Amino acid sequence: MMKFTFKLKVTERITAKCSRHPRYNPEKEGRNGIKGGCSGCFALFDLYQSRLALEAAVQKFQRLACPWARPRQPRTHKPTPPVTNLVEDESR
Ligand SMILES: [Zn+2]
Repeated sequence: MMKFTFKLKVTERITAKCSRHPRYNPEKEGRNGIKGGCSGCFALFDLYQSRLALEAAVQKFQRLACPWARPRQPRTHKPTPPVTNLVEDESR
């Protein structure tokens, strides 16, 4: 029996551009848009590929886990016991 909880939260905001080719966009131009084997552009392309691979892996995991996943139950709070006055009334 396999049982585990999977929780993934990745929040990264990246603003990057090649110092020599600031107009290079790996999303639009791909690997063929890299001029002269620029290492900065290759790094941007690798970063973009990694993002795509991560998204694909998460989607595959969710698709494969879906038949066995239990829907998350909302938290139920225990009923609070009635408030009793624990402090004795000393005015008597
Ligand atoms: Zn470049």
